[in-house]
Amino acid sequence: MTDCIYEKDCSCIAHTYDRYNKLIVSGKGALCTDSEGNSLIDFTSGIGVNSLGFSDDEWIAAVSSQAASLQHISNLYYTAPQIRLAEKLTARTGMKKVFFANSGTEANECAVKTARKFGNLQSEGRKNRIITLVNSFHGRTMGSLTATGQANLQQNFGPVLPGFDYCPAGDLKQLEAMTDDNTCAIMLELVQGEGGEIHLSREFAQGCQKICRQKDILLIIDEVQTGIGRTGTLFAYEQYGLQPDLVTFAKGIGGGLPLGGVLFGEKTADVLQPGDHGATFGGNPVACAGGCVIMDRMTEEFLQEVREKGQYLRERLSSIPGVCDITGLGMMLGFRIAGKDSKDVVKAALDEGVMLLTAKDKIRLLPPLVITRKQIDKGLEKLMKVAAK
Ligand SMILES: *Cc1c(COP(=O)(O)O)cnc(C)c1O
Repeated sequence: MTDCIYEKDCSCIAHTYDRYNKLIVSGKGALCTDSEGNSLIDFTSGIGVNSLGFSDDEWIAAVSSQAASLQHISNLYYTAPQIRLAEKLTARTGMKKVFFANSGTEANECAVKTARKFGNLQSEGRKNRIITLVNSFHGRTMGSLTATGQANLQQNFGPVLPGFDYCPAGDLKQLEAMTDDNTCAIMLELVQGEGGEIHLSREFAQGCQKICRQKDILLIIDEVQTGIGRTGTLFAYEQYGLQPDLVTFAKGIGGGLPLGGVLFGEKTADVLQPGDHGATFGGNPVACAGGCVIMDRMTEEFLQEVREKGQYLRERLSSIPGVCDITGLGMMLGFRIAGKDSKDVVKAALDEGVMLLTAKDKIRLLPPLVITRKQIDKGLEKLMKVAAK
């Protein structure tokens, strides 16, 4: 059966993913099962999506009951789950308003449009350039792809959009020099996820905010991967002592359903007006009902546990012979194994029964936030075996 599925996939799915030779059929928490009945320990959460692991009971109850009563209605009407989720997000962050989209790249498109409108209105259409960081990742649609500071991802898709400049992470002098009257925003990830789990220094992040404040430039934080508890606080910017003007989020908020959005601060709350932006599926009631469960579970106690397990994971990891260059924050870690190719390690680990990710030349861990210490131990034992080979 599986062979037939691999063949069919090759014949009718566009070949944009280099898939592993595995058909996943079900899961619970941090464990899932493949078509041959093998149990796998999940250190990926579907790339930071399944924050509560596979098929969380409370989440299932919320989305199925919402699907059974109202699965969708256009954004021309009000729906309760969308408002409930927006209230939770604004109450927890102090941000003023939310726009709901379906993905990270869409969330970033909305932030870019907001920043450009904000700047253009201030300046008769001159202040609309956005600075992002070298090695950043903001998505795959044209605006977000242009914002992404990795030339190899833009290759063959030009012309990219005008109005973006890239600054090396950590270089405040360069950033200062790059900002001028035409700059409307600085946009950054606090941990460059796809870029290799590289966290920014507090000094640099604070420096960015200072430049923004001095020059009336918007600070956009892309929390698509770092947000919703991943780093041990609801958003990573809290740990950096920042007050961004726009925050984008996606991956973890839907618990597995497509959901993302933008949080607007004081300055940006009313920039977008009727007709300026929209998304047919944005803020879908089923996705938002699930998102409410995710938000309710992100209590201070839960986040404390994420921080402790993140620390535990990091310590255990660093005790494995050969493991080096550990970077990242909370349950979002990158590392290498000396003398080994990270892609080979991930493949070999999968054969041992543990799912890992790569990011650039690093191995990347994004376990579901509910993973237990025992499951961490078991997963790392398997990794240790691979490292020793
Ligand atoms: C994954 C990611 C995106 C893109 O999200 P999609 O949902 O795949 O569009 C954008 N920014 C960051 C930081 C990401 O990690």
